[in-house]
Amino acid sequence: MSEPVVHEIYGVKFGQNLHGRRGHYFSGPDGDPHDERMQLDYYVWVLRSAAGDVVVDVGFTAETNARRRRDHWEDPSAAVARIGVDVEAVRHVILSHLHYDHCGDTAPFTAATFVLQQRELDFWGGPYARRGAFAPHVEADDIARIFALDAAGRVLRVDGSHEVVDGVWVDLVGGHTPGMQVTRVRTSKGIVVLASDSSHFFENIEQDKPFAVHADVVDMYRAFDSMNEAATSGLVVAGHDPLIAERFPAVAGHEGHVVRVA
Ligand SMILES: [Zn+2]
Repeated sequence: MSEPVVHEIYGVKFGQNLHGRRGHYFSGPDGDPHDERMQLDYYVWVLRSAAGDVVVDVGFTAETNARRRRDHWEDPSAAVARIGVDVEAVRHVILSHLHYDHCGDTAPFTAATFVLQQRELDFWGGPYARRGAFAPHVEADDIARIFALDAAGRVLRVDGSHEVVDGVWVDLVGGHTPGMQVTRVRTSKGIVVLASDSSHFFENIEQDKPFAVHADVVDMYRAFDSMNEAATSGLVVAGHDPLIAERFPAVAGHEGHVVRVA
């Protein structure tokens, strides 16, 4: 019997938004729209083992940024290449959900299968995707590319929990989007959960405050519970928090851009 595969996890920041306010991100008394600015960082994640790199989320491109006007540093595929990811050789890309800041830079991953929940595909291909609470968060071109990849047999449709490679699982949680999934990773520290937008900020899960954008707030609370339960390492890693760069050590030569989570 071979040893279970253990993965290293790297968080790769490719941009930020310095213009958001708490009121954009938190509802009710925690989200007064006149309240202070709140920085939101954009990350993709690399899971590294001897068996190869798995990439979690692919962010958005400079082209999308020209419309959205965030502080976009570089395309995520270029950002991960700088820490040695052979983008054209990556076999598995997990997409947590289909919001524009997670699924835009698919094209450079020419050999990859994209792992998505069936419910997420169904939702964005369905009638409610066009409604006002949902449509602004996606790019029509991105969604079209995903469905083209699916037609080409390059999307793995998952329903619930699935082991993508040895030691990497996705779990359907819903909440933020109908088919939102989180990624569970076996590391030397135990199981680490990459929350992506199931907890944009550590404040969401650690203070039990759902993010302001959601399809189902009950599922969002349920995701907080299931992620906390799954993370034997004690690490549930927020998806967009500037504190990521403070809580985890920078990778030498990539300070301010790349952290090592495990
Ligand atoms: Zn996001």
